[in-house]
Amino acid sequence: MASSYEYIEPIEIELKRADSCMVVQWNDGHVGRNTFLTLRWNCPCAGCAGEMGSKGRLDIVQELKADEYVLESLAPIGLYALRPVWKDGHDTGLYTYDWLRALCECDKCMAENPGKFQKRRLLRG
Ligand SMILES: [Zn+2]
Ligand SMILES: [Zn+2]
Repeated sequence: MASSYEYIEPIEIELKRADSCMVVQWNDGHVGRNTFLTLRWNCPCAGCAGEMGSKGRLDIVQELKADEYVLESLAPIGLYALRPVWKDGHDTGLYTYDWLRALCECDKCMAENPGKFQKRRLLRG
Protein backbone atom coordinates (compact mmCIF):
# COMPACT_ATOMS: atom_id res chain seq x y z
CA MET A 1 0.00 0.00 0.00
CA ALA A 2 1.29 3.43 -0.84
CA SER A 3 1.85 5.64 2.14
CA SER A 4 2.85 9.23 2.32
CA TYR A 5 6.21 9.96 3.86
CA GLU A 6 7.25 12.80 6.06
CA TYR A 7 10.91 12.01 6.05
CA ILE A 8 13.27 10.88 3.38
CA GLU A 9 14.74 7.64 4.60
CA PRO A 10 16.31 4.49 3.20
CA ILE A 11 14.08 1.47 2.85
CA GLU A 12 16.84 -0.94 1.97
CA ILE A 13 20.60 -0.74 1.76
CA GLU A 14 22.59 -3.30 -0.16
CA LEU A 15 26.30 -3.42 0.55
CA LYS A 16 28.28 -4.29 -2.55
CA ARG A 17 31.63 -5.01 -1.03
CA ALA A 18 33.17 -6.23 -4.28
CA ASP A 19 32.42 -2.83 -5.83
CA SER A 20 33.14 -0.86 -2.62
CA CYS A 21 29.79 0.82 -2.75
CA MET A 22 26.24 0.50 -1.54
CA VAL A 23 22.92 0.82 -3.27
CA VAL A 24 20.27 2.64 -1.30
CA GLN A 25 16.55 2.34 -1.95
CA TRP A 26 14.91 5.50 -0.65
CA ASN A 27 11.28 5.85 0.40
CA ASP A 28 10.64 8.44 -2.29
CA GLY A 29 11.55 5.96 -5.02
CA HIS A 30 15.09 7.17 -5.55
CA VAL A 31 17.67 4.44 -6.08
CA GLY A 32 20.91 5.93 -4.85
CA ARG A 33 24.49 4.82 -4.84
CA ASN A 34 27.27 5.74 -2.42
CA THR A 35 30.85 4.59 -2.75
CA PHE A 36 32.62 3.69 0.49
CA LEU A 37 35.51 5.97 -0.42
CA THR A 38 33.26 9.01 -0.73
CA LEU A 39 31.40 8.11 2.45
CA ARG A 40 34.67 7.91 4.36
CA TRP A 41 35.89 11.19 2.91
CA ASN A 42 32.74 12.78 4.21
CA CYS A 43 32.71 11.35 7.71
CA PRO A 44 30.90 14.02 9.74
CA CYS A 45 32.52 13.26 13.10
CA ALA A 46 34.46 16.04 14.82
CA GLY A 47 37.79 14.25 14.45
CA CYS A 48 37.42 13.91 10.69
CA ALA A 49 35.44 16.97 9.71
CA GLY A 50 36.58 19.37 12.42
CA GLU A 51 34.29 21.53 14.48
CA MET A 52 33.95 25.10 15.66
CA GLY A 53 36.33 26.37 13.04
CA SER A 54 39.10 23.90 13.84
CA LYS A 55 40.36 21.62 11.13
CA GLY A 56 39.62 17.94 11.10
CA ARG A 57 41.79 15.12 9.91
CA LEU A 58 40.15 15.09 6.50
CA ASP A 59 41.08 18.73 5.99
CA ILE A 60 44.72 17.83 6.41
CA VAL A 61 45.35 14.42 4.82
CA GLN A 62 45.72 14.06 1.08
CA GLU A 63 44.99 10.37 0.93
CA LEU A 64 43.27 7.72 2.98
CA LYS A 65 44.78 4.38 3.89
CA ALA A 66 43.05 1.39 2.33
CA ASP A 67 41.67 0.19 5.68
CA GLU A 68 39.97 3.50 6.24
CA TYR A 69 37.45 3.08 3.47
CA VAL A 70 36.65 -0.60 3.79
CA LEU A 71 33.18 -0.73 5.31
CA GLU A 72 32.80 -3.49 7.88
CA SER A 73 29.22 -2.88 8.93
CA LEU A 74 26.48 -0.31 9.09
CA ALA A 75 24.44 0.17 12.26
CA PRO A 76 21.18 2.12 12.31
CA ILE A 77 21.00 4.88 14.91
CA GLY A 78 17.44 5.56 15.90
CA LEU A 79 15.33 6.48 12.91
CA TYR A 80 17.51 9.17 11.50
CA ALA A 81 21.09 8.04 10.97
CA LEU A 82 23.55 5.28 10.20
CA ARG A 83 26.84 4.59 11.91
CA PRO A 84 29.41 2.88 9.68
CA VAL A 85 32.16 0.79 11.23
CA TRP A 86 35.31 1.03 9.14
CA LYS A 87 38.03 -1.56 8.93
CA ASP A 88 40.54 0.68 10.70
CA GLY A 89 38.17 0.71 13.70
CA HIS A 90 36.79 4.19 13.11
CA ASP A 91 33.11 4.30 14.05
CA THR A 92 32.31 7.73 15.42
CA GLY A 93 30.65 9.17 12.33
CA LEU A 94 26.88 9.48 12.45
CA TYR A 95 25.58 9.84 8.93
CA THR A 96 22.11 11.31 9.04
CA TYR A 97 19.80 10.22 6.24
CA ASP A 98 19.92 13.78 4.91
CA TRP A 99 23.70 13.63 4.76
CA LEU A 100 23.67 10.20 3.12
CA ARG A 101 21.23 11.43 0.52
CA ALA A 102 23.28 14.57 -0.11
CA LEU A 103 26.29 12.34 -0.77
CA CYS A 104 24.42 10.25 -3.34
CA GLU A 105 26.57 9.48 -6.37
CA CYS A 106 24.02 7.84 -8.63
CA ASP A 107 24.10 8.87 -12.28
CA LYS A 108 21.05 11.09 -11.85
CA CYS A 109 22.41 13.02 -8.86
CA MET A 110 25.82 13.45 -10.45
CA ALA A 111 24.24 14.69 -13.69
CA GLU A 112 22.15 17.20 -11.74
CA ASN A 113 25.13 18.50 -9.80
CA PRO A 114 28.41 17.39 -11.39
CA GLY A 115 30.52 19.72 -9.27
CA LYS A 116 29.14 18.76 -5.90
CA PHE A 117 32.35 17.10 -4.75
CA GLN A 118 35.73 18.71 -4.52
CA LYS A 119 38.62 16.40 -3.69
CA ARG A 120 35.97 13.80 -2.88
CA ARG A 121 34.37 16.00 -0.24
CA LEU A 122 30.92 17.43 -0.58
CA LEU A 123 30.88 21.18 -1.01
CA ARG A 124 28.51 22.49 1.59
CA GLY A 125 26.28 25.18 0.24
ZN1 LIG B 1 21.06 9.77 -6.37
ZN1 LIG C 1 35.17 10.38 11.42
